[in-house]
Order: sequence, then structure tokens, then C-alpha cells
Amino acid sequence: MSAEVAETIARVRAWRDDRRRAGQRVGFVPTMGALHEGHARLIERAGQHGDHVVVSIFVNPLQFDRKDDLERYPRTLDADLRICNNLGVELVFAPASGEMYPVEPLCTVTVKRITDRLCGQFRPGHFDGVATVVTKLFDIVQPDLAYFGEKDAQQLAVVRRMVADLNLPVEIVGVPTVREDDGLARSSRNARLSTEERSKAIALYQALREAERAIAGGERDARAVERRAEAVIPPDAALRLEYLEVVDPLELQRVDTIDGTVLVAGALWVGRTRLIDNLSIRLKPDSAYETISG
Ligand code: AMP
Repeated sequence: MSAEVAETIARVRAWRDDRRRAGQRVGFVPTMGALHEGHARLIERAGQHGDHVVVSIFVNPLQFDRKDDLERYPRTLDADLRICNNLGVELVFAPASGEMYPVEPLCTVTVKRITDRLCGQFRPGHFDGVATVVTKLFDIVQPDLAYFGEKDAQQLAVVRRMVADLNLPVEIVGVPTVREDDGLARSSRNARLSTEERSKAIALYQALREAERAIAGGERDARAVERRAEAVIPPDAALRLEYLEVVDPLELQRVDTIDGTVLVAGALWVGRTRLIDNLSIRLKPDSAYETISG
């Protein structure tokens, strides 16, 4: 059966009302399209929970801090719909911008502190845009569960906190990062990389793995771990490391000493494309360590 494509909020609400009357649960996967294996994993997870699955495809202008990034963002709706059909998605919500923002919104959602570091320092307004659109999408779809990738760890932390602080009636499920064979995190933005850039892009994952090795080797000074990881990025005119930081996993504040679980996260510019990635590393009481996600 092929997925129904809804372009209006009214249609999604009517579909949702039918599901509620039938006592059925709804799982929701919000995306910006250009679907790949990472999105597919989220959709599969939603399906495994036995729910009706809704996918939204909306390139949200509110979360883009750079106009050229919004304009260059890949849009592949036909291919996306084929993927959704193959994965048994029931409803695809693909609204035009004017459906979501008929007028400039004067009410937006801000999650404080968690957005201070990592991408938040470099992408002004980005997480307000994310929190606002996710709130709107939750209100439109009214899912029982919603699935987010750990690849966007700061986004996941923002959404979890927003749901907790605002008592939103939805359960958030985090899904581990899906990677290429060499470790590169799958991302819609990878499609923009030239062959040469693609081979250089792996440097970010290698830097994160170096941080993991440093911690496994007993390094507990977070700044020293960051320095060792940064040193892995080769001097190359096409590569610019925006940040690489060791932070706590809940509020994403910088830690000085590694103890318990830490998130090591980075952003690397490869030519004109900005890529992000992270590893979550847990130090057990006996000083052994394990990578929980990545
Ligand atoms: P996006 O379309 O990039 O906004 O992503 C939509 C959802 O897919 C977000 O929850 C992302 O975290 C998730 N996602 C994107 N790439 C991956 C990946 N490689 N592995 C797991 N989840 C991902």
C-alpha cells in the first residue's frame, strides 16, 4: 500500500482523529527529506513498535542560519516517497512553507543552556527554529512516540528537554547513528560532497575515534582529549574544524574532567559543506570505558 501524501494540517488532523477513534498509536519521524539509510533506520524503528508511522518532510526555513544552506539543501521528494512506500509509512506530511508559516511566527520556542555550546555557538537561532517546528509538528501529528537520530545529539537533547519542561505528551526515542562503511555518518548534506571532499570528510569521525582512544588510554583531562582529537584533522585548505568539544550528555556543558558519560562532538567544514558527528562514551566505575553510541 502506498503512503498517503498530506500537504495540509487539516488533512493530518483528520487522519489522526481516525487513528485515535480506532484506539491506535502513532509513531512519528520528522525529517527534512533527502532521505537516506539514517532516516530509514528511524522509520524502521517506528514500524517495529507496531505503530502507524507518519513521516514529515519539511525543509524548515526557521532553522537555517545561512540563506545559501537553505537554498542548496537537497530536495528529492519523489525518491523520498518511494523510500517511505517501501518502508510501509502510512502518511507523509509534506507541507509547503506557507502552510507551516502563513505569517511570520511571533511565538517561538527557546531551550536555554543546552543550546549555548556545540552547534548553538555557531548557528544563531538554529535551535529556536528546531524547537519551534518540532512543537508545531507534535501539535499537528499528535504522535504517541517520536524518533530522532543520535547523530544530531544536541537536537535530541533539546527536544527531550523541551518535552520534559513543557509536559508534551509524547515519548522521545533516540536512534543510534547510521554510518557508511568507513564510519562517515550518513547525512543529507553528504550528497553535496565531491569525490575528493568525500574522502577528506572522514577526518571528523577519525578525530572522534582518537578522542575515544585517548579516554580508553586513561586520559581524563577533557582539554587534552580535545587537543589529541583536533590534531587528527590534517592541515588541508578544504578542511576547517569549527569545534570539537567534550561535554556532559544532558545539558551539553563543557566538562573539565572525564567522569561518567561524556559526549564528544564536532563540526567540520569540508569545502562549503558543514558536517557534524559525535560519540557518546561511558566511563565505568572501574575506569573501563564503552562507546554507548556512535
Ligand atoms: P534531517 O532530515 O537531517 O533533519 O534528519 C531527520 C532525522 O533523521 C533527525 O532525527 C536526524 O537525527 C536523523 N538522522 C539523520 N542522519 C542520521 C544518521 N546517519 N543516523 C541516524 N539518524 C539520522
